[in-house]
Amino acid sequence: MISIKTFVEGPVDANNYLVIDNKSNEAVLIDCSSAREEFINEVKSTGCKLKYILLTHGHFDHILGINKFKELFNTEIYVSKDDINQMNYAPQMLAMFTGKASADVQIPNTNAVYDGDEFKIGDTKIKAISTPGHTKGGMCYLIDKKLFSGDTLFQRSVGRCDLLDGDLDAIIKSVKEKLFILPDDTEVYTGHGGKTTIGFEKKYNEILNL
Ligand SMILES: [Zn+2]
Repeated sequence: MISIKTFVEGPVDANNYLVIDNKSNEAVLIDCSSAREEFINEVKSTGCKLKYILLTHGHFDHILGINKFKELFNTEIYVSKDDINQMNYAPQMLAMFTGKASADVQIPNTNAVYDGDEFKIGDTKIKAISTPGHTKGGMCYLIDKKLFSGDTLFQRSVGRCDLLDGDLDAIIKSVKEKLFILPDDTEVYTGHGGKTTIGFEKKYNEILNL
């Protein structure tokens, strides 16, 4: 059994998910958008052992907390190597989107995650699924029947493809060929906004049904 805690963090309200394997108390954080004190304290208060931070992609609004979290929790961070350039571009993107100074953005060392990679927290398996489109190195993570979709798939929408390395044809292909093959009752935990399911998106996602 796992438990999931959702944190809405960072300058543009990204969803960060703390997934805890209840038996072992090992945990993974999917995206890490801020190092806000209350966020850190809430993660600490669960008493979990934070084994990994898995990034869905390298955009600034999903990674701003990783340096501090790595330091505090001594955890490993994984991101696709195709999104390393996105991470390096994070200070400029932060300035572009928020007007905030970018000097504080620090990118720690990360590990590369590849399509099909598996991670474990206790006996719970996490599978990485590569879904390029929103960025080149976009990754979704599947845990049991729960998909963490980052900015690839949203409720009735997909991530924007007009930023660096975005590709609309690629995102449509990714969703149709990599995500819509999952069972209809797979719950989708998105990178922004509310939850959805694969079955609902197959029926109602107008971008993918064009
Ligand atoms: Zn993004």
